[in-house]
Parts: sequence; structure tokens; C-alpha cells
Amino acid sequence: MKRLILAGGGHAHLHVLKALAARRWPGVAVSLVTPYLRQIYSGMVPGWMAGHYALDQCAAPLEPLARAAGVHLVQDSVTGLDAARRRVQTAASGEFSYDLLSLDVGAQVDSSCLAATGATLLPIRPLEDFVVGWKRQVELARQRGTARLVVVGGGAAGVELALAARYRFAREAGGANVAVSLVAGSGLMPGHGPRIVQRVRQALREHQVVEIPGYAAGSPEGLLLDNGTTVAVDTVIAATGVRPQSWLAGSGLALAADGFVAVADGQHSVSHSEVFAGGDFASRVDAPHAKSGVYAVRAGPVLAANLERALLGQAPLPYRPQKRTLYLLATGPREAVMSWNGLSATGHWVWRWKDWIDRRFMSQYHAPGQ
Ligand SMILES: Cc1cc2nc3c(=O)[nH]c(=O)nc-3n(C[C@H](O)[C@H](O)[C@H](O)COP(=O)(O)OP(=O)(O)OC[C@H]3O[C@@H](n4cnc5c(N)ncnc54)[C@H](O)[C@@H]3O)c2cc1C
Repeated sequence: MKRLILAGGGHAHLHVLKALAARRWPGVAVSLVTPYLRQIYSGMVPGWMAGHYALDQCAAPLEPLARAAGVHLVQDSVTGLDAARRRVQTAASGEFSYDLLSLDVGAQVDSSCLAATGATLLPIRPLEDFVVGWKRQVELARQRGTARLVVVGGGAAGVELALAARYRFAREAGGANVAVSLVAGSGLMPGHGPRIVQRVRQALREHQVVEIPGYAAGSPEGLLLDNGTTVAVDTVIAATGVRPQSWLAGSGLALAADGFVAVADGQHSVSHSEVFAGGDFASRVDAPHAKSGVYAVRAGPVLAANLERALLGQAPLPYRPQKRTLYLLATGPREAVMSWNGLSATGHWVWRWKDWIDRRFMSQYHAPGQ
């Protein structure tokens, strides 16, 4: 019997579980190592923050998915990997050896430059910690009747978080008592065209989120901006750049320039053919692309097909990631901004479209086996 370890219950592995539930692969014992019993879908998190969704609607329960797939669930975190010895280390359950390994553990937020803000810092990842921290901030805003929040990071996630926070705080504490800013570092929506940047900027203005150009660093007094001023804050949400978990560096796997697992066209490691990776934790060396949920989801069927092929001793099938990505950004109220291939639009209909896509995506994981 061969041993396959699925490390992390990320977007790509959700599909692998689904594929195994539909048809088991013979001659393999599969284990899933996951620190949490659910996978929170980031695409719906801003909607949850704004109060449009209950958290259960935004999370895929992993236990029933694993059960339906015949997969042994180990509730633990991967803390190390020895690719030469084919062993995975965990925080509490010891070491596991494998014949085949698939990594989908996501990315961490690099918030080291904000650490000095202390308890006010709320990194967006891990999402499980973020949701606890956000609930506390909402409760505090309600009690105090005021809220001062800064989101650091001008990418799509930072924009959505700032707009969701402003909308929710205004409902809890009254719009006049709320100050929400977005520190955009190297610019708003880097990598996107000028039209979408303009629409996003307009949405920020309309919903009273103050855009602060430049960089910010943490200090015990608040946020220190690069123009020399200090902003007093109750909460700093870090949606800054991503980095891999530190154990990857010592794994022996070949890494891409960004420090994540270097994978080839079949999502297999370029150095170890028995190791696969998908989602943010993987970087395609032949076809680099942004780290976003769309690519993580698309990697799911590729991983499922190529893991099964690897078990049968077959070479992986190549997969070409899409070049263009549809972005749908929630702006707080039930409204969203769309960006695709240079086209952009704003409105309630964009939200309804996003809501339909997100709910449909989650529905397949809420009723395993169907
Ligand atoms: C607020 C926000 C909104 C976003 N909205 C969008 C969007 O609308 N569209 C889009 O395309 N992208 C969006 N993104 C980006 C998207 O979230 C990521 O690209 C996506 O989550 C990557 O999926 P993943 O499977 O690689 O990792 P994750 O979704 O992070 O999943 C990783 C999994 O691994 C588990 N794990 C972590 N560490 C370990 C460990 N050591 N051992 C075992 N398991 C572990 C975690 O618990 C989790 O279950 C958004 C991001 C944020 C923060």
C-alpha cells in the first residue's frame, strides 16, 4: 500500500478530496494534515466582515469531505519536511513517511515591519486567527462607539478589507465616528490596468476610505508613515506581501526566486518528482502567475489527475495556467467592482454575480458526496 500525504486543506486539495469521494484510487492510503477542521474561503471573507454572510457559509468543513473521500484526517500542522528521506514532520503527531506528497498550505503574511504596533496588529493570515480578531474589533467598535483602523497593503485583498471594515464599523458605531485608511505602499492595485485603479480609487472615496500613498512601519505609538507622521490606530490589518512558511527553506526542495516550491508544468516539484504543490505555496517556474485563489482552485483538478498518474507510475500531464483573471472586488455594501482583461465595471449587479459565483463554489463542499 502506497502512502499519499495531503499537507493542508487549501483550495486545490478541496478538489482532490472531492475527486477521491467520487472515485477512490486503489492501492493508496491517503492522509490529510490540517491544523483546522474547516477551510475558510477568502473570497467571501470581506462579505462576512461586512455582515452579508455567516462564517459557516464561507467555510468548507474538512471532516465530512475527508470521510467521504476515505482520507485519514490528522488535525495538526506540518512543521518540517525532509524531501531526501521522504518524511513530513508535524507539531504534535510526530513524523510521517510518504511515497507521494502534495503541498497546499498557502502563504503567510509578511508583517514583520508592522510588528512594533503590538496588540493592535491583525494579520489577515492565518484566516482562523483573523476571524477571531475581527469579531473582537467589531465588538469593541460597538462598545466604544468609535473605530480607527488602517489596512496596510494596496492590493485587491487590502482594498476589499478596508472597504468591508469601513462599512461594518459605520453600521456598528456610526459613520461620523469611524476612520478607516488604506496604506497603499508601492501603489493601489499593482499589476492592474489604469481603469480598474481609477474605479477602485473612486469606490474608496465614495465609501470614505482614505488612501495613504507610501509605506508604513509599526511603532508603539501607532503607524509611522514615510512622510514622518504617526497615525494613532486601534487596529492595523496587515495585508502586505506573502512569504512561505519557514520550514520550507530547510526541506531540500528546489525553491523559486520568491522562496516558494518551484513546480513544473504538472504542478510537480522540479527537484523531487514525488512531491506536488498547488495554490500560493507553489510557484510555476515555466509560467509564473499571481498568487491568487483563482489559480489555487484551478490547480485542484491538475493535482488530482497527476497524483493519480504518479501512483500509476505515469508522467504528469502538463497544465497551462490561464493568462487573464477575473477580479470581483466587494466594496462594502452589496456592490462590487469587476476587472477583466482591461475591462471594468461597478454596481450591485457585479455583487450579485460575485455572490452567485462564490455561493456556487462553496455549495459543492457543503454537501459532500453529491
Ligand atoms: C481577504 C482576501 C480576499 C481574497 N480574495 C480573493 C479573491 O476574491 N479572488 C482570488 O483569486 N484570490 C483572493 N485572495 C487570495 C487567496 O486567498 C489566496 O490566493 C488563496 O487562499 C490561496 O489558496 P491556497 O489553497 O494556496 O491557500 P489557503 O487558502 O491559505 O489554504 C491553505 C490551507 O493550509 C492550511 N495550513 C496552513 N499551514 C499549514 C501547515 N503548516 N500544515 C498543514 N496545513 C496548513 C490552512 O489551514 C489552510 O486550510 C484573497 C485573499 C485575501 C486575504
